[in-house]
Amino acid sequence: MNDPVLRELADALGPDVVIPGEEADVRYWNDWAGLPPVRPKAVLRPRTVEEVSLALSVCNRRLQPVVPQGGRTGLAGAGRPSEGAIVLSLERMNRVLEVDTANAALVAEAGVVLEAAQQAAAEAGMFLPLDLGARGSCQIGGVLATNAGGNRVIRFGMARDNCLGLEAVLADGTVVGGLNRLVKNNAGFDLRQLFVGSEGTLGVITRAVLKVQPEPSTTAAAFCGLRDFEAMVALLERARARLGGILSAFEAMWPEYYDLMIDHVQRLRAPLSGRHAMYVLLEARGYHPESDEARFERLLADLVAEGMVEDAALARSERDVRDFWAVRDAVAEFPILLGRHVNFDLGLPVRTMQPFVDALRRRLPAAFPGIRAVYFGHIGDGNLHVVTGVPEGVDTHAVEDLVYRTVGEFGGTISAEHGIGTIKKPWFHLVRSAADIATMRRLKRTLDPNGILNPGKVVD
Ligand code: ZN
Repeated sequence: MNDPVLRELADALGPDVVIPGEEADVRYWNDWAGLPPVRPKAVLRPRTVEEVSLALSVCNRRLQPVVPQGGRTGLAGAGRPSEGAIVLSLERMNRVLEVDTANAALVAEAGVVLEAAQQAAAEAGMFLPLDLGARGSCQIGGVLATNAGGNRVIRFGMARDNCLGLEAVLADGTVVGGLNRLVKNNAGFDLRQLFVGSEGTLGVITRAVLKVQPEPSTTAAAFCGLRDFEAMVALLERARARLGGILSAFEAMWPEYYDLMIDHVQRLRAPLSGRHAMYVLLEARGYHPESDEARFERLLADLVAEGMVEDAALARSERDVRDFWAVRDAVAEFPILLGRHVNFDLGLPVRTMQPFVDALRRRLPAAFPGIRAVYFGHIGDGNLHVVTGVPEGVDTHAVEDLVYRTVGEFGGTISAEHGIGTIKKPWFHLVRSAADIATMRRLKRTLDPNGILNPGKVVD
């Protein structure tokens, strides 16, 4: 280690915490956003909060950029090293410290993989509602740092809503926050929410307290074919009113998505025999076996009688539930089905969603002949995913530009649950005001005056 920063870090932390760049495994070179990989200058693998603090204080004094990494499953590029940066991996801080059933809280280190936290909760007879597709790889710290969403947001909220407390280390090594487990705690500014969704630019999350609750004992699910978008809105409103708190998922799919998956993914079993203008996977999870299922079935029967739901398959077994979700979760097939493609994570008020989809259905093929686009998402949360192929000879950036400008026009957001990272920075100004972005910069300069934490991400 000839580099003076690395020598100082190795002296302070011990050589086994510091992996020089030449020896750093390629997994640290990138995240799931798929940008060109970058070899970091080194990888730090601290074991304790104290080591994180020490590492950052050295890097801050030496003006050494640091890129914090969790499970690197982010889709906006926030976890990818910048040129010359040191990666700070939290992977060794992977202990679930406590499941506190009385306070309905789980305390974990930031490097705990989400699925491991879910298992620890289950072993204690509790349920950790925070859930997303990358559960087997993503880590608690990254889930919070990106304010991740997922399929259960309609019922349980985003990562932000599931965090009772957190501890973070500032750029200069100062440790702030703590392991609050009080639901009600209004003692001053809420620093915790400053770090949630900051994508590693304001501090490094080291430990957190997450909400848990008793595991729901009933699951009802249906796959519905609907008359049109209006029928879907009606279904959403009725499901909220009549299922109340037990509505746990409302996943919509437009025909472009449903047809692509059902027609091309062999292993999928078509939930419905015919084709429809809209599809919804509806799920309710509750605590009352004697009434939950009946309420769910009555709701569907009423909407079928009114002609809004044209066809509905009701899950009769756990396998049915899994098969329904398999259609919605077939997103891993996009590379095979679409080749080069772009993933959009958009947010729009429910009522503007269909006009927005119609606008893209016109504009995309007009600008890029032969382009393929599919539409689906967590519609109960106003979160629309659009995935487009990118035809030969077309620049990805041009497709992004068209979609993001259209979202701006419709008053939506360019990131509902994935973050800004580096990928969405060019369009950030379309959806946040100049005053908002200037305030974010002021916060960044206050907490990280030397600009060492995840530089170039979110705001400069
Ligand atoms: Zn999603």
